Order: sequence, then C-alpha cells, then structure tokens
Amino acid sequence: MTKKYKQTIKQEFFVIGFSSALIIAFVFILLASASIYLLSMDNAQKKLEMANIHMSTYTNGVLESLVMSTKTNAAFPGAMDYEEGRAEAKEKLLQLFSATTQANPNIKYSFAGYEDGTLLIEGYETPVGFDARLRPWYISAVESYPHLSIGLPYQDALTSEWLVSVSLAMVDQQGILKGVMAVDCSLDYIKTIMSEVSYYDSQMNYVLDENRIVFVHNNMNYLRQSIDTVVPGLSEKFSEDSGFIRYAIDGKERLAFYHRLEEADWIIVSAIDASEVIGPIARTIVYIILALILLAILLGIGQVKVYEKSFVKPITALRDHIAEITSDQKVARSSQPYIYSNNELADIAGKIEEMAETSLRKKNDELKLILDATSDGILVLDLEGNVIHKNEKYSQFKYHLDQIEAHKISNHEQLIKREETFEILHLNGEMVLEQYTCPVFNNGVLKGQLWRYRDITEKFRAEEELKWLATTDPLTGLWNRRYFLERGEIEINAMCRTGLPLSLLFIDIDFFKSINDNFGHRIGDEVLKYIGVTLKNHVRSMDIVARLGGEEFCILAPNTSLQSVNQLAEKLRLFFETNVYQLEDKKVQFTISVGVATYSEGIESIEELLIAADTACYIAKNQGRNNVVSSGMFG
Ligand code: GH3
Ligand code: MG
Ligand code: MG
Repeated sequence: MTKKYKQTIKQEFFVIGFSSALIIAFVFILLASASIYLLSMDNAQKKLEMANIHMSTYTNGVLESLVMSTKTNAAFPGAMDYEEGRAEAKEKLLQLFSATTQANPNIKYSFAGYEDGTLLIEGYETPVGFDARLRPWYISAVESYPHLSIGLPYQDALTSEWLVSVSLAMVDQQGILKGVMAVDCSLDYIKTIMSEVSYYDSQMNYVLDENRIVFVHNNMNYLRQSIDTVVPGLSEKFSEDSGFIRYAIDGKERLAFYHRLEEADWIIVSAIDASEVIGPIARTIVYIILALILLAILLGIGQVKVYEKSFVKPITALRDHIAEITSDQKVARSSQPYIYSNNELADIAGKIEEMAETSLRKKNDELKLILDATSDGILVLDLEGNVIHKNEKYSQFKYHLDQIEAHKISNHEQLIKREETFEILHLNGEMVLEQYTCPVFNNGVLKGQLWRYRDITEKFRAEEELKWLATTDPLTGLWNRRYFLERGEIEINAMCRTGLPLSLLFIDIDFFKSINDNFGHRIGDEVLKYIGVTLKNHVRSMDIVARLGGEEFCILAPNTSLQSVNQLAEKLRLFFETNVYQLEDKKVQFTISVGVATYSEGIESIEELLIAADTACYIAKNQGRNNVVSSGMFG
C-alpha cells in the first residue's frame, strides 16, 4: 500500500533549494552589512580624524609662530624700558614690530601696552580714551604671568573685528609690571583654516576656547556661546587630548572628532551628520540585499534545476519504470532505458529489472512446466497475433491443424473473438480434436485469445463404437430393435405431418431351427448375414432394415403404400424360394413368411404397427408358410 504524501520530491527539492539559498543569502547579508557598516564607519572616522589633525596642526603652527614672535619681541632690549619721549627707543620698537609683522604673515598686528595705559603700535590710530591696561589681551597676559596668554579672542577697539591675541606680561627685575607685549591675528584667518578641509557636505569644523566658548563656527548662532549651551553636557566629553564623540543637535545625530591644541587650550572639533555616513552605507546594504536576494533566487533556481536533473527526473523515471515492470510483466527491460545520472539509482534500476526478470523468468518457467504437463495443446496470442504462450502439445497439433485451411492460424486479428467457441475438428479422418477458444482479458481489457486443443480421437471412437453397438445388430450389421423402434417413432411423426403412407414388413424364416440342426449354428449365423445382405439389396436407401432378434427381420418403408409393400414382400418371398444359399460345400434352401402392415387409423405407435405386421406374419405361418399376408387382409 503506498501512502499518499502531501509533497512531491520536486516540491520538496524546491523548498530545500530556495530555503537553503535564502539562508545563505541571509547570512551573507548579515556579514556583508556588518562589515560594510564597520568599514564605512572606520573610513568615515579616519577621514574625519585626518581632516581634524590637519587643521589642528596647522592652527597649532599658527599659534606657535605667534608665541615665538611675542617672545622674541618681549626679549628685545628696551622693550620694557620704553618711555614716553624717548623717541629713539620708540622708533626701534616700532621697527621691530614692523619686521615681526613682515616676517610672520599670520600676524595682523604686533604691539605693546604699558602700565601708563599707552599703546605702542604701527599704523593704528588709538581711539579717544583708549587705555591699554583695560584691553582683554593686557588683562589676560597679567593674569597668565609668568606664562603667556595664548589664543584669546577679542574685538578690535576701533573696528570691532574679531582677533586672536598672544600676549606676555613684561616684569622688571624687582618684579614690577611694566607692560604687555602682544601680537594678534585675524579670527577670519583661523576660520579660513577651519573651512579648508571638508570631506562631507555636513562637515563642520569649529573651535572652542579655554572656557569652551565657541569662537570659530560657520553658524553665527553658535558664536560666543558656551558649547554646553549649544549641546548640554558636551564639554565633559572632551576628556582626552583627542577622540571621537557622538552627540545630537537639532535632533540630528552628529559624529565628531576633537583635538586639543598643544599651544593654546583650544579644542578643534570636526563634526558631521551621522546620516551622511550611514545613508550611503544603508543604500549600499540595500543594494547588496537586493543583489543577494536576486542571487539567492538564481541559486535557488539553479539548485532546483540541478536537483530536478540529478534526482527528481531519475527518481520519477525509476518510479515509472517500476510501475511499467509491475503493471505489465511482459516487458521487464524498458525499450528505451533511462540513463541515470548517478550510480546508486542506476544500480537500483538495474536490480529491480533483474528482480523483475528473475521473477518473470521463474513464473514463465513454472507456467511452461504447467503448460507442458497438460495433455491439452494451448496457444495464447495477443491482439497483434504475437505468441504469448504455447506449449509442447500445441506444437504437436499444429502440424495437423495446418493441414486444414480453415484452422490455419494466420490471420490472427480476425481470429480474436470476444466470445467462447467450441468446435470438434476432424483432422484427415484420423485425428479428432476438440477446439475451445476464449478471449483473454486483463482488468476488463481484451488482451488476446486462448486456444485449447484436446485430442479426443479415442473418446470419439469409443463413443462411435457405443453408438454403433447401441443401434446395430452385430451379426448382420443391420439396425437393431432399439434403433428400429426409435427411427420408427420418428417416421410415424413425419408421416403424420406429411400424410404420406408408411408401411412395414415383418419377416420370419421358415423352419430356421432345422437349418441350425442340419448345418450347425455357425452356418445358421452365415445364413442370417446372407439374409441381411439380401434384404438390403432389395430395398431403397431410405428404407430401414433391422434384425429384431433371432431370425426375425423388419423393413420400415416410408412413403410406401400397402400395395407397393405387398409387391416388395412378394419379391422377397420369391427370391428366397427360388435361390439357394451356398457356403463351402453346403447348399441351404429356405423360405420366408412375411407379414405386411400399413399405417392407418387405429394405429397409434410404431409398436402397434409392428404388432400388426407380426400378427400378419403369424397368420402367414399358419397358412402354410412361404407366404405373404397383409394386415389389411384380415383387419
Ligand atoms: P417356424 O418359424 O417355421 O415356425 O419354425 P422355426 O424353426 O423357424 O421356429 P422359430 O422361428 O420359433 O425358431 C427360431 C429358431 O431360430 C430357434 C433357434 O434355433 C434359431 N435361432 C434363433 N436365433 C439364432 C441365431 O442367432 N443363430 C442361429 N444359428 N440360430 C438362431
Ligand atoms: Mg421366429
Ligand atoms: Mg422361424
């Protein structure tokens, strides 16, 4: 019993093929996405760091040069001793400032402030009421002493332009403050540096001063504000000398690299929108996902194709092949063998074929044994007339059957009948065959026809013999009493239909006992035979001559009138009277008495007609023998 499964092998392979392809694709997507994300982030961070370091180094260099210039100026003899009215000293200092500005293009102004509130500077007009001691660069230098004040942003007193100063307090040997030496550069210059390196659209480079006030930024809204006001708590994140940080501004995730300068306590920050890095990553990942899904589909289709070719087709072919073998035992090996792609299936197919062939051969051998063991000749043909089975006996009969044109098995299709047939065949008068045919069905479908021949010659002869014995008198070969009465009945019935006359002669030999006595019983028998032949010679073929028993004979003459039968009786009487039977040296002379009767009213059966004739014969005996008496003569 085969259980019905929901899926076919093809469907299962389809599921396996696609799910495995999808799983592989999923793993690849996962790995690829992760590595792409990491690589891209790493790349983005590197770029950001590079840009930042570049700017920081450059800015640091600018500040360094400012520091050098300030220190150089402060060390100049007379820089501290400058006094109002000393024109020569003033001139020398101004020359120094001019040289400094020329030597260092980063410097916008080179100048000094003194404790009397004066400012020594070239090409700068101090506004009315200007007091150097109140300027931020002056205050910061005094506060920072003995160190320099580096990188202080402040506004020009005259133009309000934003500048960055580096200043150093000058103190005499007694420790008394004399003044502050300073240089400054334009904040716009720093800004230009900040906008120099930008890899991303959203990249923003800005600078925080020592108080973490934003003093360089492209966005004016953030300028002069504490970074913690712009992004709360951000200043705490700048804990190292440099590093990456993430924060959100206006709901946007920012990725930033910061770097603390060596010269000034500045922090240079380079920040970009995280989305600008993640966006392309996400897009790439989406493309990869799509590509991998496409690949998975192709891989799935490919797998399904391979599975189909390598497994589904051979398995299906094997199943069909098995079905073919099991349903039709006729063909064990298929006419067009399937080429299996792998050895195992080919082996299985081969083994099944072998099994089928072995069992078929066994069955055929058994069948052949059985068929050959039977005394019947058996022939089975398919619808095309091909021999499916035939046994030894049939081959023996075939020679005889072929002698009869009607039974020559040549046009087979015409021979196939849907009914059983039964026929007795007489072959050349020496062999009698019983022919039985029947159609062969398989599951209700006509497949062919079976012929069975049985030799019934002996049986037929025995039957014939019995029939002969039952109807014939063995001594004379004439019909016996039984047959005579049977035929008589038939003739009476026929006569009733046709209305033709029917007559009967009853013959008894006169003094037959004395023939036996004089010549012996053997001669008596020969005489009886002679009488039989003589009677037959005197009647028509249609007349029925019988020996009823002993030396009594009967002739039934259809279509014969009383007159005609009287003539026949007289002829017979005369013949025996006038002829001598001679056997060896013996001459036998005898006469007969004949009773004649014709069918007429009052007679109902053959027995009654016989009685009538017998009675007439009895009268003939009584009248002296060698005589003919007709029943009509006394009835
Ligand atoms: P009749 O008829 O003239 O009165 O005298 P018959 O001697 O013929 O007497 P009946 O007809 O009664 O005798 C019959 C005899 O026929 C008796 C028997 O010896 C002889 N017979 C009967 N059957 C056979 C037979 O098969 N072979 C021989 N040889 N004789 C037979
Ligand atoms: Mg008698
Ligand atoms: Mg007699």
